[in-house]
Amino acid sequence: MPELPEVEIVKRSLKNRINYKKIKKIIIKNRNLRFKVPQNFENILEGRVVIDILRFSKYIILSLDNSSFCLIHLGMSGTLHLINNKKQKKITNLSFYHSKTLPKKHNHIKIKFSNFMIVYNDPRRFGFFKVFKNKYELNKYFEKKGPEAISSQFNYKYIKNKLENKNKNIKNFLLDQNFVSGIGNIYSNEILFHCKINPLKLAKKINNKNIRNLSKYSKLVLNLAIKYGGSSIRDFKNTKGVSGSFQNEFKVYDREKKNCPRRNCRSKISKIFISNRSTFFCKSCQK
Ligand SMILES: [Zn+2]
Repeated sequence: MPELPEVEIVKRSLKNRINYKKIKKIIIKNRNLRFKVPQNFENILEGRVVIDILRFSKYIILSLDNSSFCLIHLGMSGTLHLINNKKQKKITNLSFYHSKTLPKKHNHIKIKFSNFMIVYNDPRRFGFFKVFKNKYELNKYFEKKGPEAISSQFNYKYIKNKLENKNKNIKNFLLDQNFVSGIGNIYSNEILFHCKINPLKLAKKINNKNIRNLSKYSKLVLNLAIKYGGSSIRDFKNTKGVSGSFQNEFKVYDREKKNCPRRNCRSKISKIFISNRSTFFCKSCQK
């Protein structure tokens, strides 16, 4: 599942290729994604020029020249593929996410530009597309979501206020998008390791120093992952066909029974499940 850093890389790749380009045609093969693709989708998008590509949390937002917006969420297994018209039958490695070639099945939506197209592929169909007629509708959609983990609003004061008297464990707190947007399972494990906080610790028991650390390391870990081009759990690539490499920087994620990377710590990384999500941490240095 792509998380904030991978979606940011997809956004940047898209921006390089489709900004200021005109959408010629939309072809929908299957409307039944997580939410049904709206009937007016083609009407709103065809003939429009993309004037910016934004991102909030794990949502990609195409800003169009008639002040409407198209929202794309990749869900669990959604991928965007860029196919040049001339090379349509050839193998292309311009996929944005974990596939070297355009898969044969599950190509649900095609967005055609003048000499290339973007194909949305999604075997599990947890991804979705939405359209908003204006900025007001778009903002309304996001109004209940927590601030982005990499934004200045995710600060000491905000976190302290939210964690107070809460009996929920801190890992579930970090994964709750109404508290903070854009932290998924992989990065929540990494952030808690950097903060030296046990993932099972109750929110109300997090001390002030650790509240500061949560704000600091959320930004640090996510920004570093973006710098490394995201994590290639499967085969994540940007438009140039370059894989993200942050998986080589993981301290705890997917490192069960390996040595704790912290100097002077001789423990091994443990794996447990919290709300069915695999959780990796060091019992000795995360208290
Ligand atoms: Zn340790």
